[in-house]
Amino acid sequence: MAKSKVVVFEKANQPLEVQEFDIPELKEGCVLVKTVLSGVCGTDPHCWRGQVKGMPVPVILGHESVGRIDKIASDRKTDSVGEPVKEGDLIFWVAGHPCGQCHACVIEKDTTGCIARRSYGWSYSCADYPHLTGGYSEYVFLTARSFFFKIPDSVPAEAAIAFGCGFPTAVRGFDVMGGVQPGESVIIQGAGPVGLSCLVMAKLGGASPIVVIGAPPSRLELARRLGADLTVDISDLKDSESRIQAAKEAVGEVNLVIEATGFPEAVGEGLELVKTFGRYLVMGVFSDLGAVPINPTRIVIKNMRLYGSVFWEPKHLHRVIQLLAAHNDTLSLQDAVTHRYGLAEATSALEDVEGLKCVKAVIDPSL
Ligand SMILES: [Zn+2]
Ligand SMILES: [Zn+2]
Repeated sequence: MAKSKVVVFEKANQPLEVQEFDIPELKEGCVLVKTVLSGVCGTDPHCWRGQVKGMPVPVILGHESVGRIDKIASDRKTDSVGEPVKEGDLIFWVAGHPCGQCHACVIEKDTTGCIARRSYGWSYSCADYPHLTGGYSEYVFLTARSFFFKIPDSVPAEAAIAFGCGFPTAVRGFDVMGGVQPGESVIIQGAGPVGLSCLVMAKLGGASPIVVIGAPPSRLELARRLGADLTVDISDLKDSESRIQAAKEAVGEVNLVIEATGFPEAVGEGLELVKTFGRYLVMGVFSDLGAVPINPTRIVIKNMRLYGSVFWEPKHLHRVIQLLAAHNDTLSLQDAVTHRYGLAEATSALEDVEGLKCVKAVIDPSL
């Protein structure tokens, strides 16, 4: 029986272990994918640190991955939008699986609110069939309920994975708060994949000026290359007051502030930067790091519109792929992949991402 090397997460803060699993037999509707690159999402170190509750360990991490179709069931001839596919094609699959039976799924028709959503890469135990349920693996086994999209030949695998799940997260966030108008001013808090994806969306939407507040310098440099008019390095300006002052002096309060940091403290700061009648989109603080004081008067006095957005649906990933097909010649997002790790180096990858050493880190099982 053919086997796949995988990296297994069993216990918080312990090194991940390389193991070998049998590759299950291909059934109707299923696809066996050979992983090309699996992104190390900013959430992965939180999983590893035990901050994401209820993970059914053992788990194979990796919920943003691209790979080539190795084998495809004879009844499955297209991707999830009817594009013909064959063995060898590069695809991006949707890790999440909504339940289809809850209020969000049935009534709201928005599966991001699904209460029983499961996802490859964190909420399937690799002890259970089909075992190969995360991207930190040579092979991933997509069951019949999985959505996936073909990546056009013009888009390198590195570009598709560059901002990982952050990109469809940003696309959905922009949908939720109604997008940007040309000429609107924007401050983005956070220069990780979500923040940089928001920058791309804001730039393509004609927003100006756009300020990115974040770290480290390598990410801020990429932000400037992608069109940020100003970047503020949080390691230079360590306290909230001085960052607020720097941003206000440069661009004043702005039409739209986007929180993409993952740190709850950023929210109080963001409220100070929004203009009267402006909008604040909060997307980054996904892992629950606790409560922080904020000044709610700002929300009232400024007639602020406040939006939260979590997860994304297959349509948002499809739009990312279309956007890359149209714009990656100029965006050149493949340059954002700065660190590659083999399966055996997955623990270092998590540490480096946690330590903000990478613009984007990927697991490359061929290494
Ligand atoms: Zn993620
Ligand atoms: Zn549901």
